[in-house]
Amino acid sequence: MDVPRLSRWLESKVAPDPLIAVQALANSHPSEDQGELLLDVETTRYWLLRFGFAADGIEVSEDDRGRLLELRGCVRALIDANATGERDAAASERLAAIVADHPVPLAVERDGRIGLDLAPAPSVDALIAQLIGVVLRAQIDGTWERLKICAADTCRWAFYDASKNRGGHWCSMEVCGNREKNRSYRRRRAATA
Ligand SMILES: [Zn+2]
Repeated sequence: MDVPRLSRWLESKVAPDPLIAVQALANSHPSEDQGELLLDVETTRYWLLRFGFAADGIEVSEDDRGRLLELRGCVRALIDANATGERDAAASERLAAIVADHPVPLAVERDGRIGLDLAPAPSVDALIAQLIGVVLRAQIDGTWERLKICAADTCRWAFYDASKNRGGHWCSMEVCGNREKNRSYRRRRAATA
């Protein structure tokens, strides 16, 4: 994958490599500022190639796109749970079904170290398997809990919370944090008026 390009697109609060791939998938979701980036098979193929997720000849079917969206839905639900501290059993069950069909690809270095095989994927299912591996790795190294969905209803951007106390709620304190604070301030004022 093209990490510099992904970083430029995500702009701030970017997850470390390779968790950045999962953050990017989460943010292909439609929001106030952008449409659905995985709208159909053509835009999905374009998106996968643009960030170097897929090998050049990749073909994307409507079913492939559906499975990628299913993974994205699970990821978004689970990292939203990271932000709230709640557990999402339904999303975990859905993820289990995807994991069952997508064994994680591994690669062995010359020194015998085993890692994820993250070469550009030849198919959407191969990419899904890689992304599951990325989630697994992040859960082991403790970075997974830092991936969150912005608490602002109008935003819902996936961001990486690098703060010491892991207490971040917004993708941007300046934008979403202040907007939310002003809103609750106005609500309190309206209530006392
Ligand atoms: Zn936000």
